[in-house]
Amino acid sequence: MKNKFYITTPIYYPSADAHIGHAYCTTMCDILARNKRMRGFETYFLTGTDEHGEKIQKKAAEKGVSPQEYVDEIAEKFRKLWAAMKISNDDFIRTTEERHSKVVQSIFSKMLKNDDIYLGKYEGWYCTPCESFWTETQVGEEHLCPDCHRPVHKAEEECYFFKTSKYVEKVTKHYQLNPKFITPVSRKNEMMNTFINKGLDDLCVSRTTFNWGIPVVENNKHVLYVWLDALCNYITALGYDTDHPELFNKFWADENCEIVHVVGADITRFHVIYWPMFLLSLGLRLPDRVFVHGLLDLNGEKMSKSRGNVVSPFPLIERYGVDTVRWFLAKEFSFGSDGKFTPESFAERINIDLANNYGNLVNRTTSMISKYFEGVVPELKNPGEKEKEIRELTKKTVKAYENLMDDLKISEALNEVVNLLNVANKYIEESQPWVLSKEGRVEELGNVMAVLVSSIVTCTKLLSPVLVETSEKVYKLFNLTEEQKSYEFIEKFCGFTGNNVEKGAPLFPRLDIKVETEYINSLTK
Ligand SMILES: [Zn+2]
Repeated sequence: MKNKFYITTPIYYPSADAHIGHAYCTTMCDILARNKRMRGFETYFLTGTDEHGEKIQKKAAEKGVSPQEYVDEIAEKFRKLWAAMKISNDDFIRTTEERHSKVVQSIFSKMLKNDDIYLGKYEGWYCTPCESFWTETQVGEEHLCPDCHRPVHKAEEECYFFKTSKYVEKVTKHYQLNPKFITPVSRKNEMMNTFINKGLDDLCVSRTTFNWGIPVVENNKHVLYVWLDALCNYITALGYDTDHPELFNKFWADENCEIVHVVGADITRFHVIYWPMFLLSLGLRLPDRVFVHGLLDLNGEKMSKSRGNVVSPFPLIERYGVDTVRWFLAKEFSFGSDGKFTPESFAERINIDLANNYGNLVNRTTSMISKYFEGVVPELKNPGEKEKEIRELTKKTVKAYENLMDDLKISEALNEVVNLLNVANKYIEESQPWVLSKEGRVEELGNVMAVLVSSIVTCTKLLSPVLVETSEKVYKLFNLTEEQKSYEFIEKFCGFTGNNVEKGAPLFPRLDIKVETEYINSLTK
C-alpha cells in the first residue's frame, strides 16, 4: 500500500475565464487530496496555468497588451476562483516562471544529447486552435482537425522532433501491465485505436513562427512547442533537476508515492502517449494513473462563451455557500463520466442530501439532546441489537468509502455516507425517542442519542473533504476535542460522552426549487 499521494489538475490554458467546468475538475482533485491528507497520507496537490503558445500571443495582441500582462491577469482569475472554492493546492505553477522554463530548457538539452530529439522539417496539416500538426490520414478528405473538428491548413516548418518510435512499445507495454493507468478504460481503447495503432509520427517539439515560448538554448530561432513545455510542469514544480529537489525526491522519485494526473478528454493523448515517453527518455518513473474526467454541459448544451451559457461559480458560492456548490459537483456526477448540469438538479440535490438528510439529522439530534439531556451527550450503556447493527454498518461504510475514494470514485464513496445518514434518520423513527422519554426509559433514550452523535461525527469526517466549512461548524456544535476530531477516532464508536452540545441554526435551509431554478437560469443569460 502506497503511503504518499501526488495529485495534479491539468494546468489550465488561460484563453477563457474560469467557469464551472474548470471548477469541477479542480474541486474533485481537491476532494481526493483532502481525503488522503485526512487519512494520514503524505499528500501533494498541484495546479497551475499553461501560459505559452501562439494562441496566447495572438489574444494578447488583440487586446493590445503584452503576452505576459495577458497571462498575469488570467492566472490571477484562476487563483481567485481556487480561493473561493476553498481549493487546498500546495502549489500553483505557471509555465512562464523561471523555475519552470529553466528546467525545461535543460530537459530539452538532455533529450538532444541522448539523441531522442533531432532537427527536421515538418510538412503537414496544421490546426491553429489545437496548435497541432496532423497527417493526411488524420485530417481525412474534409481536412478537419481530428481533435476539435475545425478546418486545418497546409504548413511547413523547420522544427525539432522527439523520436516517438523509440518508446512506443514501452508505453503500450505499460498500458498492459497497468490496467488502471488510463481510466476510464474506454479512453485507453480510444488512444490505441485513434492514435497508436494508426502509426505514431515523431512529435514536433519546437516552433519558429512565433516567439511566445521557452527559447531553445541550442538554437535561438526556436521556441519550445507547447507540450514538452507544459507537461513538464508536473516535475518542475517539485524541483526536478535543481539544487533543491527535496519534493521531487519525496514524491515523484519515491515508488511509495501514488501519482495521479487528472485530465480532460481533449488532452488525454498528450498525457498517456507523449508524457510517458518524455519521462522514459529522462529515466524517470511513470505516473500510476491518468484519470480522464467528463465534461459538464448546461441543460444538455456544451457550455461556451459564444453560446452565452457559461455558468460562473462565483454567484452560486455567494448565494448557496461553497460547500453546497462542492457537494453538488461531487455527488451529482459520477467522476469520469460526462454530466448534465441543470438548475433544477442543483436545487433538488441540495434539498435531498443536505437539507432533508444530513442537516435534518444534525438538527433533530442537537434539539433532542438539549431537550432530554440538558445538552450533554449521554453514555452508551448495554447497547441493543439496533445499536450493534449501526456500529457494524459504520465500520462497513468507512471501509467502502476508503476503497471507493482510493479508486477515485468520489460520488460512489459519498453514496455510502449518505446511506449511513439515511439509516441514522430511520433509527430515530424506529426508536421513537419521544416515547422513550415519556415512559422514562432513560438508558435506552441515552443510547439512541449516543449512537446518533457518533453517526453524525463519523459521517461529518467522511464528508469533510467535500463540506469543508460545514464540518468545522458541526465539530463546534458537538464541542469536539482535537482527539475526537482525528480520523482515527472513528474507530472508537460512541466516544463523546459528556460533550456539551449546542443547538445551532439549520445547516442547510431548504431551497424552493422553482425560485432557485429561475435564479440560476438568470445567471446564464
Ligand atoms: Zn483542432
